[in-house]
Amino acid sequence: MEAVSCIFCGDRGTRPYHEENGYQAVSCDGCGLVFVTPRPSEAEMKRLYEGQETKVDLGLQIRNVERATYEARRALDLVGRYQPSGRLLEIGCAAGYFLREALRRGYDPTGIDITGPFVRYATDVLGVDAREGTLASVELPPASFDVVYHRNVLSHLAYPLDAFRQMRSLLRPGGLMVYQTGNVAELPGERWAGTNELDLPDHLYHFGERQLRMLAERTGFETLDVRRYALLLHEPAPRAALLHLQSLFRKNHKNGAPAKEQKNKPAPFVVPNDVPRARLLHSLEVLVDGYITYDLGAVAPKEGRRATLVVVARAR
Ligand SMILES: [Zn+2]
Repeated sequence: MEAVSCIFCGDRGTRPYHEENGYQAVSCDGCGLVFVTPRPSEAEMKRLYEGQETKVDLGLQIRNVERATYEARRALDLVGRYQPSGRLLEIGCAAGYFLREALRRGYDPTGIDITGPFVRYATDVLGVDAREGTLASVELPPASFDVVYHRNVLSHLAYPLDAFRQMRSLLRPGGLMVYQTGNVAELPGERWAGTNELDLPDHLYHFGERQLRMLAERTGFETLDVRRYALLLHEPAPRAALLHLQSLFRKNHKNGAPAKEQKNKPAPFVVPNDVPRARLLHSLEVLVDGYITYDLGAVAPKEGRRATLVVVARAR
């Protein structure tokens, strides 16, 4: 375990924020950034991540083609307003559905992901350019991209400043970065009491709009827009109702549901040969969720609410 201090302020003092899975997240007295300290050493984190690969339900992520495609379309609608074509890099491309959608819209996309089976699926089945590894391990030519995109990746990065500087170096001057993350640091720690919702220590850093602007400022980006969508479905009451509805729904529509794996002996994952067929009811569920999050969530009162933030920044 290693103790870390705030990436922006150094040792300005911290206060306890939330505890989960035996890990402590603190809030910086200087800027409000929330981060895990002490945290597993780099070697331990690598081991945790490798362990996590087996924890992620790869088959489920690949079957979830409707949701992934929907999210990709929403994101590309926004990217397209600023940069309608060109070389695009997705960091954390998972099964590659965003890359496929970007290709359809005329971009020249490349993705990287640490999970080998995802990369094989994206390459062999979707026919997109995906490479296995991290920003540090995959060789990409500097100043060669027009767009960098990532979704729910930032909180996992052990060194956010270094990673953002590297993303900056991959963009041509004036290139665009669009990414999505949460707003945890804007909410009081009590919001999470008794839950595992912060996913510690997989999520090492939690930001809010203020800290995201600081991150951009220090890594060579100009923040152009921060869009805020209230996660209405994550409020305690709707969340409980939704989970209940989903459990009813899943009971009645088992087609394509994964067989329950035995705890000690997970079946080895086999990369499918084909893209799963879109399921009508599932597509409908995704549309309703999307409407609630991105349409109602954009206009709902956001004060004190959990939100997803979509940031548009330009390389200076
Ligand atoms: Zn700080």
